[in-house]
Amino acid sequence: MDERYGFETLAIHAGQEPDPSTGSVVVPIHQTSTYKQDGVGGLRGGYEYSRSANPTRTALEECLAALEGGAHGLAFASGLAAEDTLLRTVLRPGDHVVLPDDAYGGSFRLIATVLAGWGVEHTAVHLGDLDAVRAAFTPATKVLWCETPSNPLLGISDLAALGQLAHEREALLVVDNTFASPYLQQPLALGADVVVHSTTKYLGGHSDVVGGALVLADGELAGQLRFHQNAMGAVPGPFDCWLVLRGVKTLGVRMDRHSANALRVAEMLAAHPAVASVYYPGLPSHPGHEVAAKQMRGFGGMVSFTLVGGEQAALRVCEQTTVFTLGESLGGVESLIEHPARMTHASAIGSPLEVPVDLVRLSVGIESVDDLLADLIRALG
Ligand SMILES: *Cc1c(COP(=O)(O)O)cnc(C)c1O
Repeated sequence: MDERYGFETLAIHAGQEPDPSTGSVVVPIHQTSTYKQDGVGGLRGGYEYSRSANPTRTALEECLAALEGGAHGLAFASGLAAEDTLLRTVLRPGDHVVLPDDAYGGSFRLIATVLAGWGVEHTAVHLGDLDAVRAAFTPATKVLWCETPSNPLLGISDLAALGQLAHEREALLVVDNTFASPYLQQPLALGADVVVHSTTKYLGGHSDVVGGALVLADGELAGQLRFHQNAMGAVPGPFDCWLVLRGVKTLGVRMDRHSANALRVAEMLAAHPAVASVYYPGLPSHPGHEVAAKQMRGFGGMVSFTLVGGEQAALRVCEQTTVFTLGESLGGVESLIEHPARMTHASAIGSPLEVPVDLVRLSVGIESVDDLLADLIRALG
């Protein structure tokens, strides 16, 4: 599909031409493992086995590539499966990764335990401090890993500056764009080499599927990744691909509402006497506000805050909301609340990525904002 179409048009149509055999407007769920061959090696549509390729997955991959402004999209069984396939394609034992000191806990665990066992080294650093990032590079650094906004502290890093820094040292800039989604931020245009997604979150958008994706422009690396996607086999099933495709159609309107609701929530929290600090890049007081305003179309739906009453107060708030559901994950239409130190980021205890114990993280959904505000105010007491 013509990539000059607007984002919302691409979200609904890219990779999703009406089915040529039936006219079905919605991409069918091709729930099949194999394909009839017309004579040995005579493939009808290029499909032979669904680990290698499946038409529903192809539709999703083409759509995601269009939304990120990349030439190649690859879908995986989870965000971590996408990360693992990427890292074990571009790294060799002895290589080094620079990653954020507030990276998603699962990404840190993958690099610091699984890949460490494979001989890959890493340094965790604050990506907002470009001198510290420069100092963290070694001659073996092959990947600069970036997450902006970061999870759970909503740190913002300057993608264009990091891209330049990585390329001066012939390293790849990999950007986990899960929190922003391609609607709010397009890292490839700012200098990223590969974009990573947990499609479980905003792309899927309805908390009903686990998936991941990689998007990139470089055809040679895409070919290596495509080979490993098949050779390592961490692929999503057709129904999961279909759920993500269905979610993506409404990504733009959802992100607009997530962002509007989150700003109202952040402003309320910032003025509340029980709240010590609020982390939301849409607030002018956030240290990354200007960079975020430059590289993002909106500030997203994630808000974190700490409480005057410390850890006990944080735990109490998490257990006293009713519209906000206590649970891990994020990016769905429903609002979620959680305590990162004991839940999503428990595996970071004792590491450079340990998060404050008095921190509460919100995934602000698209319910009526007055109900969200009232629920939090009631829980804050
Ligand atoms: C959830 C998440 C991941 C991991 O994705 P899964 O789909 O859970 O494997 C990676 N990065 C970020 C920022 C996430 O929020």
